[in-house]
Order: sequence, then C-alpha cells, then structure tokens
Amino acid sequence: MSTTKCPQCSKETEHAFRPFCSKRCADLDLGKWFNEEYHLPGDSPALGDPEEQ
Ligand SMILES: [Zn+2]
Repeated sequence: MSTTKCPQCSKETEHAFRPFCSKRCADLDLGKWFNEEYHLPGDSPALGDPEEQ
C-alpha cells in the first residue's frame, strides 16, 4: 500500500483533504483549475484531450 502524496507540495495526503495534504493545497489546486478554465474559449469541451496521450 503506497502513500499518496499531495500533488501540490508532495507531503503526505491528509485523509480529510484527499488528494491533498491540507485545505490550503486543495484551494491552490482549485484556483489553478479555475484559471485554466478562464483561459478556455468557452465552448463545449472536446472529447479527448490531445495532450493526454
Ligand atoms: Zn500539500
């Protein structure tokens, strides 16, 4: 069983804030997503991200 690490700061994940270690890191990630969405043109999401391969 491997330990999950926070994608923000690589600390051990806190169960209450999975997959993050703290609310702060969760908020940081949320803000990041929000920013990325803000940059999108705003039409329907494409099926399959070309960069996912
Ligand atoms: Zn963290």
